[in-house]
Amino acid sequence: MSEEYYYDLVVVGGGPAGSSAALTAAKNGIKVAILEKENSIAETVRTSGVTWIQSIKEFGIPDDCFNPIKNFSFCSPNNEITISDSIPRAAVLDVRKTYRWLAHEAEKDGADIFVKINVNEVIKNEKGDIIGVRGSGPNGKTTFHSKVVIDASGFPSTVCKAMGFVTQWKRFGAGAEYEVKVENVDSETWWLMVGQQYSPAGYAWIFPLGNNIVRIGVGVGKPESDVDPTQRLEELMKTKPGPIKKLGKITPIEFHYGLIPNDGLTRKTVFNNLILVGDSAGQANPLVLEGIRYAIKFGRVAGKVSSEAIKSGKTDESALYPYEENWKKEIESKINAAGKVQNKWIALSDEEWDKELDIIKELKVEEFLDFIKADFGLSNMIKLTTRHPKLAVRQLFNLVKEKN
Ligand SMILES: Cc1cc2nc3c(=O)[nH]c(=O)nc-3n(C[C@H](O)[C@H](O)[C@H](O)COP(=O)(O)OP(=O)(O)OC[C@H]3O[C@@H](n4cnc5c(N)ncnc54)[C@H](O)[C@@H]3O)c2cc1C
Repeated sequence: MSEEYYYDLVVVGGGPAGSSAALTAAKNGIKVAILEKENSIAETVRTSGVTWIQSIKEFGIPDDCFNPIKNFSFCSPNNEITISDSIPRAAVLDVRKTYRWLAHEAEKDGADIFVKINVNEVIKNEKGDIIGVRGSGPNGKTTFHSKVVIDASGFPSTVCKAMGFVTQWKRFGAGAEYEVKVENVDSETWWLMVGQQYSPAGYAWIFPLGNNIVRIGVGVGKPESDVDPTQRLEELMKTKPGPIKKLGKITPIEFHYGLIPNDGLTRKTVFNNLILVGDSAGQANPLVLEGIRYAIKFGRVAGKVSSEAIKSGKTDESALYPYEENWKKEIESKINAAGKVQNKWIALSDEEWDKELDIIKELKVEEFLDFIKADFGLSNMIKLTTRHPKLAVRQLFNLVKEKN
């Protein structure tokens, strides 16, 4: 059996990037389909869901989708610091609820959502440009013809790989996490745990979701370390070092595992009739492997630009280029700078981490937030070094402002 559909725009992947792209395209009057391989949107959670309340508000995500955070605690083998804010500015998302809300918003505006469609083939015209995709679904082979395809398939980058435009990411983060019920937790405080014991190339975390539920996870940089994050997480849950011990009895609810690209912004993200967005485009802050807000923001831009192009009848690379121009202007220099800091962090020894926390401790909360969000605007960094002339913060400034 086989089925065939005709759309203006086909979005592969029902994650935050895909749903956001479909939303703005549907709003713009375009016939759009989201293709998702799983049984439902966000069936599998692959992220720990930390983001920023300012972005949440900008996107209109409802208040019951997140737990607010206002204290940022760090622990290294022999040091522990907390930076406290007067109001919560960070948040831990209920990932499933948020991603489903995003998809539902797109559906309300007219996007069709197809689940259980595992896209595994591209359809090309005689020039070799993409004109649709094919996948296996509940009714056998299913073909979707379209004027533009958005690859929002995340880490696997299914469509652009099938087009032969990219190969597997070389550098990436692998993360394992348990969502658990605990006895004691301060629901407004997150923990980042650094040093060899937690992760030899990365960090471990405790992110509270409210109601005594937290996510405990471990992220490991690849290929820098061959440590398996799942195994390391199991060890930490058993030995309970540092702040994990304070949680008391831990009862696992759900296991999460995911991969996130960390090759920098190396990919071209527009081709004739094709756009890459979110993780498939590598749009993540490498410092803390944060990509959800970029996926939503640039997903919306991708939907807008592609729908305008479809309406104009011209969907080649040059017509789609305003999308690439938009995201590059906004994040390219920040992501490159964050990559340099991450390269420094990934090589720190336990003793160096103990000292690094003393540097971070000196930051005002606004400075810390600029830093962790990779908001490395020149004026922010100049303010930072004027306020801390003697600190090693200056070294970070020098690192960030070095030419790429
Ligand atoms: C361990 C870990 C922790 C993270 N923590 C954070 C964090 O705290 N904060 C943050 O902002 N970011 C975090 N990230 C990054 C964040 O998860 C991603 O940047 C974000 O999810 C990217 O969204 P996306 O829509 O591009 O891709 P995804 O969320 O991966 O969505 C892709 C969708 O495409 C579907 N799909 C894939 N292949 C196919 C196919 N062949 N056919 C049909 N459908 C397909 C998938 O099932 C999925 O639903 C983390 C990542 C990892 C791995």
